[in-house]
Amino acid sequence: MTSIGILGAGQLGRMLALAGYPLGVRFRFFDPALDSPAGHLAAHVAAAYDDWDALRQFAEGVDVFTYEFENVPVETVRFLAQFAPVFPPPLALEKGQDRLVEKSFFQSLGIPTPLFSGFGSGLGSEKTAEIGFPAVLKTRRMGYDGKGQFLVRDEADLADALDALKSQDAILEQFIPFEREVSIIGVRGRDGTMVFYPLTVNVHREGILRTSAVGLAPHALQAQAEEFARRVMEALGYVGVLAIEFFEKNGHLLANEMAPRVHNSGHWTIDGAVTSQFENHVRAVVGLPLGNTSALGAAGMVNLIGVVPEAADILNIEGAHLHLYGKAPRPGRKVGHVNVLASSEARLAGKIEEINNVLGDA
Ligand code: AMP
Repeated sequence: MTSIGILGAGQLGRMLALAGYPLGVRFRFFDPALDSPAGHLAAHVAAAYDDWDALRQFAEGVDVFTYEFENVPVETVRFLAQFAPVFPPPLALEKGQDRLVEKSFFQSLGIPTPLFSGFGSGLGSEKTAEIGFPAVLKTRRMGYDGKGQFLVRDEADLADALDALKSQDAILEQFIPFEREVSIIGVRGRDGTMVFYPLTVNVHREGILRTSAVGLAPHALQAQAEEFARRVMEALGYVGVLAIEFFEKNGHLLANEMAPRVHNSGHWTIDGAVTSQFENHVRAVVGLPLGNTSALGAAGMVNLIGVVPEAADILNIEGAHLHLYGKAPRPGRKVGHVNVLASSEARLAGKIEEINNVLGDA
């Protein structure tokens, strides 16, 4: 029986295991946190990412490693690679962990991005004038869900934001007054086969994803997004699920960031696609054929942030599926999501509104 070792034991790991068990795959997790969503489902080694003895113990009997958290230290992943293959390849982590490296990588592949410039460690501010204001200052590393980000409207704001970041390296980006945010989820198998999910429209609030939705008709920018994801996956010799988030502006895509892992904007695929992103990631890393990525209808997802609703209130909504991660609610914390499937875009919008009403979040 194939055994997958997963770095990170959060909800993404939990959903990977839930999707992988029917395929006869075994799981084992490594995460410094003692109580973790995936730890309820499988063996969990709780130790620091630089505890080499614990990593050796974790590696025993594992056939392939993957990760569900993109800030796993690259040295940890490279260490594990001596015991079994690591997918996606460590290079994908290296490119994705630093926003400046990531955006430069996109540009090197001809993938458009907002104008940007690095700040700190000898990097100048010569492009500030070209970027103009408003702009967004972000930490280069460890930022997620809008953390470590500042909207800056003038030089004085920029000076304050740089001050707040202390000496952390940063990136300044042009602020994009986008029409929509969309993401593409692609999967590449060990044999190089690639499949793509329908482009998903995402709504963020305070930097955190709130809802994702997929309509019945293909999005006009589907082919463009697939081409960009294809370039990234081929350049990295990628295996597994990759997500790229874009801003859509005037009929064009500007890449914001990528995640070398299963992604929150793909949670709708559990109930809304022929094969979920989680199952396809498992299939990819163990070398099985990839599954059909078509949507089953108009499909959507609403994140549960900071509050666990009464299960019955959600399940009373026809077509709604509840996914809880076993996490204690705290403000701003993702504790679960609701998936919903409908026969038309209008019906889907109505269902999402019903879910938001239950959450008191109209
Ligand atoms: P990020 O952590 O880079 O994904 O940013 C979180 C959210 O902040 C994005 O999903 C956007 O809603 C917003 N955001 C980030 N960068 C920009 C930008 N350059 N222009 C406009 N909005 C942005």
